[in-house]
Amino acid sequence: MADECIFCKIVNGEIPSEKVHEDDHVLAFKDIDPQAPVHIIIIPKKHHQSIMTVPAGEPIIAQMLEAANRIALKMGIADSGFRLVTNVGEDGGQTVPHLHFHLLGGRAMQWPPG
Ligand code: 5GP
Ligand code: ZN
Repeated sequence: MADECIFCKIVNGEIPSEKVHEDDHVLAFKDIDPQAPVHIIIIPKKHHQSIMTVPAGEPIIAQMLEAANRIALKMGIADSGFRLVTNVGEDGGQTVPHLHFHLLGGRAMQWPPG
């Protein structure tokens, strides 16, 4: 756990969240400021700053992708489609420095993103 990390506090229950998936390594919950009818944040329970700081050979990215797959099915957006995004650093628009995927669906997405 990283001190003062919002998502670590969600993992340990200090900050409440609306969970939609939990397994040994991954937690997923509804975004507090949803940008689509379905907007889920998928995080590793262990703190990593972003995809750039995950050590080579660490299986967490695959575990997060597997969770995204299951959550898309559970939330009913697997057939209509969805977007899976990870923002990295300042230019990427990352505001919470704990690795996460945004799973967005329930409406048609635009391209290119802003
Ligand atoms: P980023 O901007 O880092 O890619 O995404 C961070 C996301 O976390 C944002 O979409 C923001 O709304 C969400 N978020 C920030 N704080 C909280 C919180 O305390 N609870 C929940 N559920 N989502 C949060
Ligand atoms: Zn953290």
